[in-house]
Amino acid sequence: MNILGGSVRDLCAWCAHVLVKVELRARPAFGGSCGENWHRGANRYNRLFGATNNYRLCVPAIIPMTHDEILSWLRQSDEARLADLWRSADDTRQKYVGGDVHLRGLIEISNYCIRLCGYCGLRAPNQSVQRYRMTFEEIVACVRQGEAIGYGTVVLQSGEDPGITADAMVHLIRFIKSETPLAVTLSLGERSEAELAQWREAGADRYLLRFETSNRQLYERIHPSRPGGPADRIELLRHLKTLGYEVGSGVMIGIPGQSYGDLARDIALFADLDLDMIGCGPYLAHPSTPLGDPNRPAIVPGEDQVPNSELMAYKVIALARLVCPRANIPSTTALATLNKQAGRELGLVRGANVVMPNLTPPQYRQLYEIYPDKACINETAEACHGCLAGRIHSIGRHVGSGRGDSPNYRRREE
Ligand code: SF4
Repeated sequence: MNILGGSVRDLCAWCAHVLVKVELRARPAFGGSCGENWHRGANRYNRLFGATNNYRLCVPAIIPMTHDEILSWLRQSDEARLADLWRSADDTRQKYVGGDVHLRGLIEISNYCIRLCGYCGLRAPNQSVQRYRMTFEEIVACVRQGEAIGYGTVVLQSGEDPGITADAMVHLIRFIKSETPLAVTLSLGERSEAELAQWREAGADRYLLRFETSNRQLYERIHPSRPGGPADRIELLRHLKTLGYEVGSGVMIGIPGQSYGDLARDIALFADLDLDMIGCGPYLAHPSTPLGDPNRPAIVPGEDQVPNSELMAYKVIALARLVCPRANIPSTTALATLNKQAGRELGLVRGANVVMPNLTPPQYRQLYEIYPDKACINETAEACHGCLAGRIHSIGRHVGSGRGDSPNYRRREE
């Protein structure tokens, strides 16, 4: 069976995608009328090979979307059309990654950072932040708590902190992997290839590194290079894959200076990188940062600037699901911050399948302030879990068990 419910026949001689036969009455997986993505495929085929009573539609495992199609969805404001997008993303999520929502226990192990990112409250020059670095014992206590609650993964996250040494991480990863069944995800910024290899060898399973924007100029403006030259996060992501990590990346939505075209290219890059995990959250201004200055002049013309809105965040989640159907996609805390009542749930019914409850001890959690007024800042780990499980059940979904590896990664490794 294929995504439209037709039977797989053979490969298209024209583009090598899987050929399927679809009854005229079949509901399209994407769009709803002639000229939309799915019909265009049929029309192309019919032009080349002649129409039949049934549509013979060339459907790849991933429906390719052109830059213009992505762009048009990003600019779409018609609610009925957007309802099609939400439904398509939700159907695709159900088909490729199922109904389980995987919970990842997030531990923010250090808020030290040597970088100067223009949007982030943890940037090195921000003197108003009280800095902390958790001890081995404190981290292990959080890991044990996550295991007891029933999480299958812990995410160890920090600013770019050279005080977290390669050897200390090796020791910690080895401990977690030998003492618990948990998967370990690292999110420690741009580290050297040697360190990344050491940590993978020690047993780390996954690495998260957002590329934030595919527009190189914008990236360098918001994320100045370290002394010693620019780092190429895209190259680093490709390298992480060669080391055998499950690889996650993503973008901020509505960064000042981000155009619709930039964001459409970001989404296409998700597919090009064949990402296993995709995290996208709205840009939220921090007052102690250069980008948070309300008097900062606009960088792109108003009508071309992507808004950092809740709606735009849902569109990006839905489109990410359509271009990378097997990826694990979180409904992010930044989204829950924009809409505390229903942001997480709406993300989950528009393509997402992961949530990251916070295991960081409350006294540190408040200090990990990339942006202000973060959701779930005061809850205990148990309360956070109970709240999220209730929200997941309220939309008819279930909390996943086990590690919840990305089906995309599993497919690649088979
Ligand atoms: S975004 Fe990450 S690397 Fe940049 S300043 Fe914040 S914590 Fe540091």
